[in-house]
Amino acid sequence: EQRVVLITGCSSGIGLRIAVLLARDEHKRYHVIATMRDLKKKDRLVEAEGDAYGKTLTLLALDVCSDESVKQCIDSVKDRHIDILINNAGVGMLGPVESISLDEMKKVFETNFFGTVRMIKEIMPDMKKRRSGHIIVMSSVMGLQGVIFNDVYTASKFAIEGFCESLAVQLLKFDVKLSMIEPGPVHTEFETKMMEEVAKMEYPGADADTVRYFKDVYLPSSIDIFQAMGQTPDDIANCVKKVVESSRPRFRNLTNSLYTPIVAMKYADETGGLSVHAFYNLLFNFGSLMHFTMSLLKCLTCSCLRRRTISPD
Ligand code: NAD
Repeated sequence: EQRVVLITGCSSGIGLRIAVLLARDEHKRYHVIATMRDLKKKDRLVEAEGDAYGKTLTLLALDVCSDESVKQCIDSVKDRHIDILINNAGVGMLGPVESISLDEMKKVFETNFFGTVRMIKEIMPDMKKRRSGHIIVMSSVMGLQGVIFNDVYTASKFAIEGFCESLAVQLLKFDVKLSMIEPGPVHTEFETKMMEEVAKMEYPGADADTVRYFKDVYLPSSIDIFQAMGQTPDDIANCVKKVVESSRPRFRNLTNSLYTPIVAMKYADETGGLSVHAFYNLLFNFGSLMHFTMSLLKCLTCSCLRRRTISPD
């Protein structure tokens, strides 16, 4: 019996690779419904997919920000039966808070938080009735740890972490599984799109020092971090597949062991001082974020923490 997997945001990046990996499962255990806002962007997925298209893969249009689009899409699925929902669609946002309007901030929440909530509200009641199902949410390490100049994106991912952490307790009663995936940096269009946005930025409302910290201190370190620690979308897809296949999936799933100590810092000091000061020193006192990160990671990584990460292979 094939399990029906619905994935959001499949025209690029991580969503596309999850769709390909599951649709090409050698035992054909999954029927993948890969969804995207605009079906005109399907070519890359269809190309990557090859044989599976039409057999283990269906494409449907779905915009996570529209009630109508979500309802129409789910109603068109046979018996509205979805075994596994993978909430992957998401958008980024970088920059000094002073330069970002509240309307722009709300758009990030519309996709990353309300978009995911809309999908869960549409699909969860049927899963609860059937006493089975698995909801997977693409969060981020930034859903667990704040990062300078990523204030709004981080807040949107914290919001969905809090929502799901609360829901997970209730869903246990209904035998519905809920899992968060927390990748660190991943090389996708996400990174490219964000850098394009940054290139266009004019920083209205931000003072010169803040703009300098953002452009000359934060951005170069962020590029270093992506280069040194970035995973591929296939790495993340492999982690998701493991979570899908696990009989007792964990609630949180960091995909990159290098980030485990960074997250652990927060839990090691409940006053928050350790993480706030570590990140401050990282950026402003050590010149190179990379240098400090590496020494910090060396100090903090121990095998016991490392074992808590889900590895792509
Ligand atoms: P991406 O930009 O390639 O993919 C995001 C996808 O979401 C795109 O296909 C986009 O069209 C789609 N999308 C955006 N708004 C949508 C909407 N309203 N309805 C439907 N689809 C919509 O980037 P990615 O890196 O593959 O991102 C996927 C997920 O992974 C996101 O939730 C992101 O926050 C998360 N993530 C990314 C990274 C990273 O470094 N790339 C790190 C951690 C988490």
